[in-house]
Amino acid sequence: MKNGFTVGDFSLHWLEGGVFEIDGGSMFGVVPKVLWEKKCAASADNYVALADFAMLVRSPHGLILIETGLGNKLSDKQKKIFRLRRAWDIPAELARLGVAREDIDHVILTHCDFDHAAGITMTGEDGAIELTFPRAMHHVQRAEWEDVRAPNRRSASSYWPVNFQGLVAGKNLRLAEGEEELLPGLTLVHTGGHTRGHQAVWLRSQGEAALHLGDLLPTPAYANPLWVTAYDNFPLDSIAAKETLMAQARAEHAWLLFYHDPRILACRLDEAGEISEAVTTDALRPRAAAR
Ligand SMILES: [Zn+2]
Repeated sequence: MKNGFTVGDFSLHWLEGGVFEIDGGSMFGVVPKVLWEKKCAASADNYVALADFAMLVRSPHGLILIETGLGNKLSDKQKKIFRLRRAWDIPAELARLGVAREDIDHVILTHCDFDHAAGITMTGEDGAIELTFPRAMHHVQRAEWEDVRAPNRRSASSYWPVNFQGLVAGKNLRLAEGEEELLPGLTLVHTGGHTRGHQAVWLRSQGEAALHLGDLLPTPAYANPLWVTAYDNFPLDSIAAKETLMAQARAEHAWLLFYHDPRILACRLDEAGEISEAVTTDALRPRAAAR
């Protein structure tokens, strides 16, 4: 358990993609603070901590990374604005696992907001921007890529062109259409909601299952399908996708995997939406200081 967590033949490792802070009201949308603060501690000025735990998935079909973290390109001003608490450290974290950046075969993005996609590119040793995972095929939904190329008024501020520099559709970028099995046991599902092209990722192997819902379920606090962030561009789509996929997860006794929770990396939820089993940073990432 110490070095990783398995779902059948898939072995998962959570990597330090950075920790930042964000306004709690924005994160919880229409949910009153008296309710959300019971599930998520806030600072005196109402900020909450968000981790960016990218996930390395070792599989018989290659090395897969789900999300890429905050990257190393944030300016000092951005670090201040986002109240960066811990820096992106993915290349070093991979090295500790015996994996080089060049070894990653597939990079899956649930969507392309900067807090998920900024690690696609990095400032290299010569100071130039380069692809962090130069050999990898990057996978996003076609609708997401269309919006990256022509963002709407709201998404323009979170799709940073520098994060996609060097990605070429058909070469190192593959556009998924709806639902598809990318590799045996690994299925991408278009959800929409948070962004128009947001997707979820299923891992299924040897009778076990896990579901990564990206920003539809940033932390276990969002177990209620109606709890949706104010950043969701299409909240009714978020609610519908959560209802469907979380019911499926319950039916399959699947683990839910988290990107943004500073402490809970994976859990199972009971019928009431309460955590019945959890994998935490205490068990898997003893070096990480939680909250
Ligand atoms: Zn996010």
